[in-house]
Amino acid sequence: MTLLKGKTAIITGGSRGIGRGIAEVFAKQGANVAFTYSSSVEAANELEKELNTLGVKAKGYKSNAANFNEAQELVEKVLKDFDTIDILVNNAGITKDNLLLRITEEDFDQVIEVNLKSVFNMTKAVQRTMLKQRSGSIINMSSVVGVKGNAGQTNYAASKAGIIGFSKSVALELGSRNIRSNVVAPGFIETEMTAKLDEATVKGWRDAIPLKRGGTPDDIANVCVFLASDMSAYITGQTIHVDGGMLT
Ligand code: NAP
Repeated sequence: MTLLKGKTAIITGGSRGIGRGIAEVFAKQGANVAFTYSSSVEAANELEKELNTLGVKAKGYKSNAANFNEAQELVEKVLKDFDTIDILVNNAGITKDNLLLRITEEDFDQVIEVNLKSVFNMTKAVQRTMLKQRSGSIINMSSVVGVKGNAGQTNYAASKAGIIGFSKSVALELGSRNIRSNVVAPGFIETEMTAKLDEATVKGWRDAIPLKRGGTPDDIANVCVFLASDMSAYITGQTIHVDGGMLT
C-alpha cells in the first residue's frame, strides 16, 4: 500500500465526508496529508491523530478555501510544515439548494465562492511550488449535477460545471510542466451532505442507480489515489464519473 509514499497532499474539506475518506485512504497509501476544514475543530483534531497513527505526517488547518488570502497563507504554512506539495485535492464544497424563484443572491454567491472560487484560490496558491518541482497532480471535485444539471441546484450545478472548465484549462496551461489536472464527478455519495435529504428522495436516487446503491467516500477516494499517483502519469484534462452508472 505505497502508491503515494513520499508524496505530500493538501485536501480541502477533510474533516468530514468524502474529504475525510480521501485523507484516510491517502495516508494508508503512504502520503503525508495536510487537510483543511471550515469549523469542525474536534473532528479535525481526531482525524489528525488517527492519520498520525498510520505512520505518516498529518496536520489539519482551519482555513476558508473561499478566501483568496487565506488560501495563500495556508499554502505557505503547509510548505513550512511539509516542505513540498505534490497533490492538491480541491474537495471543499457546500449546497444551498432552492428553486430559482426563491434563491437569494447571497446563496448563489456563497456557493460559487466556496465551491468554484476556492478551486482558483488553491490552484493559484500551489502553482509556483508545482512549477518549480516540475510535477504535480491537481484533483477537483465536481459532481454529476455539474454535468447533468439539477432542479433546485442552479447555484451548485453552475459551480460544479465551472470546475470542469477551469480544470481543463489548467491541464492545457500546465501540461508542459508535468502538472496534471483532472476532475472527479461523484454521483450520490452517502455523507452528511446527502443526509439532509428526505428518505423518499434518497430511496428514489438509490433505485435509479444501475449499481443500486449510493457510493461511499472510499469509492471516491480510490479514484483519487489513482489520479494522485504515478499510475495516472499520462492522464490529464479528464473527468472521471464515479456514480454507479448514473449518467449511463
Ligand atoms: P460534507 O460531508 O458536507 O463535507 C464538506 C467538507 O468541506 C467539510 O470538511 C467542511 O468543513 C468543508 N468545508 C465547507 N466549506 C468550507 C470552506 N469554505 N473552506 C474549507 N472547507 C470547507 O460534504 P461531502 O458530501 O463530503 O462533499 C465533498 C465534496 O464532494 C463537495 O465538493 C461536494 O460538492 C462533492 N460532492 C458530493 C456528493 C455527495 O453525494 N455527497 C456528490 C457529488 C459531489 P467543516 O466540517 O468544518 O464544515
